[in-house]
Amino acid sequence: MTMIDVTLPDGTVNEYVAGITCEEVITDALGRKHGCLAAKVNGVEHDMSHVLDSNCSVEGILASSDEGMHILRHSASHLLAQAVTALYPGALPTIGPAIDRGFYYDFAMDPIAESDLKAIEKKMHELARKNLTVERVELDDTALRERFEHNPYKLEIINDKLEAGDGSTVYTQGGWYDLCLGPHVPNTSRLMFVRLTSVSSAYWRGDQDREQLVRIYGIVEPTKEDLKATLHRMEEAKKRDHRKLGKDLQLFHVDEDVGQGLILWTPRGATVRQELQSFIAHHLQRQGYQQVFTPHIGKLDLYRTSGHFPYYQDSQYPPLVERELMKKLANEGCTCGELSNMMKTGDIDGYMLKPMNCPHHVKIYASQPRSYRNLPLRLAEFGTVYRWEQSGEISGMTRVRGFTQDDAHLFVTEDQIAEEVQGCIELVQIIFEKLGMTDYRVRVGLRDPDSSKYVGDPERWTKAEDACRSAAASLGVAWTEEEGEAAFYGPKIDFVVRDVIGREWQLGTVQVDYNLPERFDLTYKGSDGALHRPVMIHRAPFGSMERFCGVLIEHFAGKFPTWLTPTQCHIITISEKHRAYAEEVANLLKQHGVRVEVDDGDDTIGKKIRTHRKLQPAYMVILGDGEMEQRSVSLRARNGDQIADVPLERFLEQLTEEISEKVSEPSLVPPQT
Ligand SMILES: [Zn+2]
Ligand SMILES: [Zn+2]
Repeated sequence: MTMIDVTLPDGTVNEYVAGITCEEVITDALGRKHGCLAAKVNGVEHDMSHVLDSNCSVEGILASSDEGMHILRHSASHLLAQAVTALYPGALPTIGPAIDRGFYYDFAMDPIAESDLKAIEKKMHELARKNLTVERVELDDTALRERFEHNPYKLEIINDKLEAGDGSTVYTQGGWYDLCLGPHVPNTSRLMFVRLTSVSSAYWRGDQDREQLVRIYGIVEPTKEDLKATLHRMEEAKKRDHRKLGKDLQLFHVDEDVGQGLILWTPRGATVRQELQSFIAHHLQRQGYQQVFTPHIGKLDLYRTSGHFPYYQDSQYPPLVERELMKKLANEGCTCGELSNMMKTGDIDGYMLKPMNCPHHVKIYASQPRSYRNLPLRLAEFGTVYRWEQSGEISGMTRVRGFTQDDAHLFVTEDQIAEEVQGCIELVQIIFEKLGMTDYRVRVGLRDPDSSKYVGDPERWTKAEDACRSAAASLGVAWTEEEGEAAFYGPKIDFVVRDVIGREWQLGTVQVDYNLPERFDLTYKGSDGALHRPVMIHRAPFGSMERFCGVLIEHFAGKFPTWLTPTQCHIITISEKHRAYAEEVANLLKQHGVRVEVDDGDDTIGKKIRTHRKLQPAYMVILGDGEMEQRSVSLRARNGDQIADVPLERFLEQLTEEISEKVSEPSLVPPQT
């Protein structure tokens, strides 16, 4: 009998008879209710049934861990395929991976409707309840090909895999089987809490020239409570979706005739953006930033120097070439390919829609001699840039092709880095706080200690990394250091916000840069009279106005604080008798900078309230006989709460204070108990 040593995560070493399974080891260590789905043996994932025959370390994988969720989701996709092939015998399973929030499986089959999902889900529950054992079977090449003879998709995968020498295994459950490397849950009873969410179509291998498949999406959770919470979150996310709210609240529009991913800010959305920009600009000015404006295009040569062209040209709009030059080249019979080559090599020049604002700001720095007395120089611009996102990736305001960054570049001496990075992130803190975004974290991107790709002196790097670290630590929020996440030209700080329903949004960055000052040969005269190289800090902490507004729409679920609300008061008359008073109230509010809309039409008050509620004003101001006689207003809050007969002067005073103080929620109507 051979004995083996098995090391557990707490360092304990147990002796077992060789041939013992992971399941037995984990049950021995943690008891029957260990809750593990699979195990890591020497760090590699395996099924619970995996047999141990030599010394090793074993660690259970809990369903609640990221790895566990991945296995659970992938196992649920198998269950889905088993159910679909049971209900639709002609359906051919192709691939079915786990994804970020769930799983999907693609089938070659006739299209099905959303309404067919219920029956498939029922079948899945039935199979889960049967508690079928999930088993791994190793097959040789011939057996493998025979097994999937009827399914050309699986055969294609098998051929690719075997060519690469990967071999493969099959997983079976209750007679059904799928090509897979595993690992999987030990039995189907682990998959009780599954829900199918949608059906769409996809191309085999993502290739538009190949077969169209039916894709079914689902989610799965380890417990009933988890499933309930996830469904609730999805429901909330749907309600808050900025693409839907953007339309309902008339905030922005995307028009195919203008172009995909190019946002048209309608007046109401533009108001929100303008308020935000003014707010940010006000704080930038207080911190000693200077505002600049630069054009939307620049010469190709500028981006050759900065390094943005031709290396990143796949993510840029194609360059613009001058008309006369185009004509001349066309007459010479120049092909598109040749033209593109000549641009790359610099034989001809053209212009580019700017993918970044930095080169323009660098040129402003370089436009006059600088001395250490001028530094730091802080140049800020709400600068619009253009990037070529793949059309499949474009979504609402959060993935777009043209966007305006809350951009700024700081030109600093080596010794000023720490203080300036600190200043950048203090600004972020102030603004997040005002917006009620209290749940955010910070990631500090550092060098990969094993790589030599970084430009600049290692000692200076260490200093800059320390500066980023201590700035992050000073925020008093969770922060992490991530080795290898720095750009090749300097360390950085990223901001990640978590919204009320637990989703994380990556916003912008503060980035130290040793590279661009070098490429553009920037200098300043030091106190020693010699020329020195400045360091640049790029910062766009909120990312872009598009993305930030998209996130804010979802964060507030369209119910903005009064200062950000596109129309703050909707004045509604009860009858035509009150028109003159409504006009008087509207004018008074407007004079004090309040954004007002008046509805003195003939609809009933009930109908007017229903109509205006859709636009989520901070207040509906209702005017009738009583209000007119007493020179007062009655207010209605978004949730339907009301307060009657507030004297007009007092209302004006409270409202303007709520706006100027940027109070987080409309507060003039006391909650009704
Ligand atoms: Zn699988
Ligand atoms: Zn920049």
